[in-house]
Amino acid sequence: MPAAGRQGGGGAAASARCVAISPSGDVGHPDTGAYCLVVYAATTYWHALEDGRVQCDVCPRACKLREGQRGLCFVRAREQDAIVLTTYGRSSGFCVDPIEKKPLNHFLPGSAVLSFGTAGCNLACRFCQNWDISKSRELDTLADAATPETIAAAAERLGCASVAFTYNDPVVFLEYATDVADACRERGIKAVAVTAGYICPEPRAEFYAHMDAANVDLKAFSERFYADTCAGRLQPVLETLEYLRKETDVWLEITNLLIPGLNDSDDELDAMTRWLVERLGPDVPIHFTAFHPDYRLLDRPPTPPATLARARKIALVNGVRYAYTGNVHDQAGGSTHCHGCGERVIERDWYELGAYRLTGDGRCQACAARIPGVFAGPPGTWGQRRRPVRLSAVGREPDTRRGAAPAETAAQ
Ligand code: SF4
Repeated sequence: MPAAGRQGGGGAAASARCVAISPSGDVGHPDTGAYCLVVYAATTYWHALEDGRVQCDVCPRACKLREGQRGLCFVRAREQDAIVLTTYGRSSGFCVDPIEKKPLNHFLPGSAVLSFGTAGCNLACRFCQNWDISKSRELDTLADAATPETIAAAAERLGCASVAFTYNDPVVFLEYATDVADACRERGIKAVAVTAGYICPEPRAEFYAHMDAANVDLKAFSERFYADTCAGRLQPVLETLEYLRKETDVWLEITNLLIPGLNDSDDELDAMTRWLVERLGPDVPIHFTAFHPDYRLLDRPPTPPATLARARKIALVNGVRYAYTGNVHDQAGGSTHCHGCGERVIERDWYELGAYRLTGDGRCQACAARIPGVFAGPPGTWGQRRRPVRLSAVGREPDTRRGAAPAETAAQ
């Protein structure tokens, strides 16, 4: 009989192997004291199979590994008959972004978010827009190492209202992401997951218990697209969306990247948005964003703005209350309009906020309808800046908390 259920080594960081990260971000070996770049953390979701392999149970891919092998995500591996996470405590880099870039339009609008990712991904999208990170096999080139506490402290000092796990899918570094989220929550900083939602039910429940908001990338509304273009399946993603909406308090928004000729037909958009309203209700915002040729999908043109506008119109006709066009200049499609009276309550041009007509608790100033989302007082003032940061240098930089002047910035 195969061993059943969870056989993992329990809490990740507490039982992590080879984890010793100095406050400055250096990683040292706890036994030898030597600094090393390989950090393996024990994980929970796996079980042994009858044939001697060990199956990872984090995502529906269910990789079955022999000693020394890595899963498709490349960052979870079998070591000494267990599945370990090989990227605990290491990041491909940190940036302070506007929360609207995640994209989240109904979650602390205008606030700054400390964004980071690691390496690896559990899908294999041919159009990946972050493939240098998600497909990275060069783990030792990960730029920044940091404990959860270091990240939380940096986010606070940088004036960020939240930390986002993004650039690659946090599902593959679940143990690190949840530890960071816990450290952030202790400082009143929220945690945001930017994910494809491709995760099994048990780890899903654990993962989202630590999150405050999620943007789930719904890549298409056909199993064929998921199979041919992402080497995955649609159904588990739909289950994650329903789970988030019906069984958690996590604030949910959805992104749909439209690729000409592959997932942008009227029929598919109609079916998808009908499903969203029927199964999730009308209040889950959706962002239609533009594709540009990248990675292994170079034979398709960039998405015309008219396609985004068409998708938004279909969604609105089908009853989605908050449908947006993303990563284009489109004030009408990028702004938030009250579902009660139609008032433009948050004006946006790309990631920059304009006129803001909501009360502190998120009510329309014209008709008092409550706009769905997470609102806390006046909007933030981060704007559309994108500021790369080195965590080890954060403590030495000028304080950029609200009201303080920011240090150097990089325009988006
Ligand atoms: S998380 Fe990685 S190792 Fe685990 S099943 Fe998914 S792709 Fe495979």
